Amino acid sequence: MAIDDEVPRNSSYAFRSLFKAGCALKKGLYKKLGNGKQIRIDRDKWHPSKFLIPKMLENHVDRTNNIIMVNDLINTNKEWKANIIWKIFPPEEAKEIFAVHIPHEECEDDLEWSHTKSGRYSVKSGYWLLHQEAHIQDDKATFWKSFWKSDIFPKWKHFIWKILNNTIPSADNLIKRQIRGINPACCLCKKEMETTTHLLRDCSIAQRIWSSSMGIVASQGSHLPIQSWIRNFLNLLKKKKGEQALEMEIRFISTLWGIWVHRNEVIFKESSVNPRRIIEIINDHILRASKGKNSLKVRTRDQTSTTQEEQDAMLNWTIGDKNTPNVQTILVDGAWKKNSKSNMWQAAVAWKNANKDPKEEYAARIYASSSEQTEAYAILRAISDMEWRSAGLIIKTDNREVILALKSMNETNKSISNIIKDIKRIANSYLFVMCIKVSREDIAPAHNLAVKARKG
Ligand SMILES: [Zn+2]
Repeated sequence: MAIDDEVPRNSSYAFRSLFKAGCALKKGLYKKLGNGKQIRIDRDKWHPSKFLIPKMLENHVDRTNNIIMVNDLINTNKEWKANIIWKIFPPEEAKEIFAVHIPHEECEDDLEWSHTKSGRYSVKSGYWLLHQEAHIQDDKATFWKSFWKSDIFPKWKHFIWKILNNTIPSADNLIKRQIRGINPACCLCKKEMETTTHLLRDCSIAQRIWSSSMGIVASQGSHLPIQSWIRNFLNLLKKKKGEQALEMEIRFISTLWGIWVHRNEVIFKESSVNPRRIIEIINDHILRASKGKNSLKVRTRDQTSTTQEEQDAMLNWTIGDKNTPNVQTILVDGAWKKNSKSNMWQAAVAWKNANKDPKEEYAARIYASSSEQTEAYAILRAISDMEWRSAGLIIKTDNREVILALKSMNETNKSISNIIKDIKRIANSYLFVMCIKVSREDIAPAHNLAVKARKG
């Protein structure tokens, strides 16, 4: 009774929205079912592609029967307790659960990365930060014992050791040691004080690097000092083991290293701040670390399904580093039509993300006086809309003229030259942009959106 009084009537809806938000956050990482003892029914994602949401929280965390973990949904014969599952999950999700195979041998739940189409993993930090207590059983001594043994550059071990002991010569540490003439400002963003935590994780530049290097949303970790943040991540990987974990560890440390090396370049060599340079350092070190092992390959291919040869044969305009990870592919199209009787034109632009949530799309009527201009507007719209969502972009268009205009140094086409200029300006804030000419069929989903929007 008390519980009913506490929870508002529409709690089901509210909780569901929350769960959905959590789902997006945790995309990429999930708990693979073992014995179900480590998986909370109401919190954890344990299906590679679906977030299984109980009907209502108060129903679901059934206190009288103590149903809290997924293990509580499994009987001693390693079968699903169907009656309970029907009771607490919506029918669609109950069916999904019944489709999950329960390992018959007793084994622990494991963390898995669900791969994207291209085979690239993404780790959203929310999961391992918010659920740290489950993974951190190791004390510091055990952590270091295994860390010193790990198969990475000795200089990296030393680097991590210094960060975790807060003895990295960042501005705040130097000032604490009363070293004179230290500029306290972060040399990358020039807005905040340089602390180890700021420089390596919270700085706007660092956040961008984390996102593009590993798909990590670094801002979600801001409640933790960098030391715990790093330790959590390394502990998580240690539990995971195997080649993928080693690759992740190398990429993770390489990212910290890249930021630190570039910071030193800026301070001591007076280089200008350049996120692309950081990515270069990161990839270069991953490559070197991998060569030493021969078992690892740096993922350098971009995310389109076409091969490099096919791409080179196609007309394209490219800036930045082709090896930028987490590149999104956007299909764009403009629909433009002139009514021969009324002499009135109608135009609409559309874009659609080809490798992410299919709902990530845009279409709207616009004013444009030619089909070329419409297409240029479509590209501008896509590149502006994606600016804070991705570090790298491949834009597919079926319009040759716009790509020629982008490639040309001169203003060839007045009706689109300003749009082209803006596209180029915004493109500079990405680590990588490629505009590529493809066939009409390739951009059909964007075309359909644009036509539909044009007709209104
Ligand atoms: Zn900064």
